[in-house]
Amino acid sequence: MKLIIASNNAHKIREIKQILKGKFDPILSLREAGIDHETIEDGMTFIENARKKAKEIAVLSGCPALADDSGICVDALDGAPGVFSARFSGGHGNDEDNNDLLLEKLDGVTDRGAHYTCAMVVAYPDGHTVECEGYLYGSIGYERIGTGGFGYDPLFFPEGSARTLAEYTEDEKNAISHRGNALATLLTLLEAEE
Ligand code: IMP
Repeated sequence: MKLIIASNNAHKIREIKQILKGKFDPILSLREAGIDHETIEDGMTFIENARKKAKEIAVLSGCPALADDSGICVDALDGAPGVFSARFSGGHGNDEDNNDLLLEKLDGVTDRGAHYTCAMVVAYPDGHTVECEGYLYGSIGYERIGTGGFGYDPLFFPEGSARTLAEYTEDEKNAISHRGNALATLLTLLEAEE
């Protein structure tokens, strides 16, 4: 059965194809499926946003669609920036400004606990969905370290690690990431559906 990924992010698509290739065939990005569509992400939770994106693409394409939504939740900020992670500093997706603002908000704060969350939803044209979340726990450092990854990775130390995520290789990150964990759970749920 065909699956459309509600994204054009090459890194995400590669990782999703790798894990779900035995379940769906072919697996296509939005661009590969010839779909030009932007979902308005106005949910208050990661699952709401992922569900909305997946359902819209399933209806538009008539095929099962997979969408994710992710971000970082900081304990001392009551879970912020959460679903607003990409837009934390106002400009959409400006990693530099977002990291500056996070360091500023945590100035003088000793509780540095945080976790990444990734919600994944597969929506079917008949309206039913398969939904899950994955997490990666850790803490926020005091300065940027490393050049890999994206977003908040140069500030994020996975639990028990002396390196930030920006110092991990792509494979090392995929093995522990919130997205990798969500995909593994999703695979189990899809297998249970059969
Ligand atoms: P999206 O759900 O992929 O659009 O991610 C939303 C935002 O959350 C990104 O713009 C980043 O700021 C943050 N984010 C999500 N996943 C990661 C990650 O693996 N590393 C760093 N930042 C992330």
